[in-house]
Amino acid sequence: MCTSTVSATGGASQVKALVKPYGQVGLKYVTDAPIPDIGPRDVLVRVLAASICGSDIHIYDSDPVFRERIGDGMTVGHEFCGQVERVGDQVTTIAVGDIVAAESHVVCGTCYYCLNGVPHLCQEVAGIGFDRAGCFAEYIAIPAENAFLKPPELSLEVAAFIEPFGNALDTAMCVDLFGKSVLVTGLGPQGLMALAVARAAGARRVIGTEVSAYRRRLAQQMLELHGGARQGAQDMILDATQPDVAEQVFRATNGLGVDVVLEMSGHPAAIATAGTVLKHDGHLVALGLPGGAIEVDWSNHLVLKGCTFHGIYGRHLYQTWFTACELLESGAVQLEPLITHRLPLERFDEGFQLLKRGEAAKVVLYPTAAEGLAQGVGSHG
Ligand SMILES: [Zn+2]
Ligand SMILES: [Zn+2]
Repeated sequence: MCTSTVSATGGASQVKALVKPYGQVGLKYVTDAPIPDIGPRDVLVRVLAASICGSDIHIYDSDPVFRERIGDGMTVGHEFCGQVERVGDQVTTIAVGDIVAAESHVVCGTCYYCLNGVPHLCQEVAGIGFDRAGCFAEYIAIPAENAFLKPPELSLEVAAFIEPFGNALDTAMCVDLFGKSVLVTGLGPQGLMALAVARAAGARRVIGTEVSAYRRRLAQQMLELHGGARQGAQDMILDATQPDVAEQVFRATNGLGVDVVLEMSGHPAAIATAGTVLKHDGHLVALGLPGGAIEVDWSNHLVLKGCTFHGIYGRHLYQTWFTACELLESGAVQLEPLITHRLPLERFDEGFQLLKRGEAAKVVLYPTAAEGLAQGVGSHG
């Protein structure tokens, strides 16, 4: 089945992984996960850096939004960068030794949506770390077409972030932000990335709301790094726990509200703020996922405002990947400040707890970092 292999697995047949026990809160660290098999069009990747996504926190918490989807014992995680160790017989685009990041949606290529140019909405999609084994493990098998060569300028960690950055990018690029007032609700990693894109895209004013003081400070840094002050923009980062947060947004926008809201949190209070301060004829772009069904003031916040609602799922395949790489390679968007914590895989729980408390942005887990660094492919900066 395999045309070539290097160092492979050092003879080990059981490896480290984080798996989801169905119905229980948390994840389980195991040391006896099997090394995945690869098919003729797959590649086996040794994971060098993997980052925790907001979706992983929903999975960790066994929230209803993903509870039934994740099979018992599923290896989770879907943001990573690693080195290809084996390739299937029919793989021609990826070679052993390549450093790759990965698109997490494995699509069928033949359904209605795939054939209509929106394969990220594939009806038969299998999500890495949701429906098929994920990357919080020493090894992962993925279709070669999902492997994306790491641009040499990017660190392993930032390459792992291309996948989530693609979500933020699709959210922020959904509407032309040039000259617009933009509110970003929720400044977790996705919101922080969206702030940077909004600034880079020439928004007139960028406002962010966030409950965590830690993340508000990081948001200020991201705005400064992306030229907010130099451009004379009167950007603002607001404390979402303040009862007058909506009034503060109105005061900052001549009482009109904002042209565009990028809703990144999925939190009902943030969604209510978003609907309140959205200008008539505005655009509400939503990426964040509430943990379950929520109440929305449909009439006053959406219909009667004549607004446009955009739901964002995944990334465009592969337009968003190329745009993301160009923005990162050129330095127009810089994600290094978001790397707040680096932990070996077995200390995953610390990472999840930091994220749940809002005291981290991107937490990077290293299943095999020591070996990766020994081979000189790592870049811990
Ligand atoms: Zn994700
Ligand atoms: Zn499809």
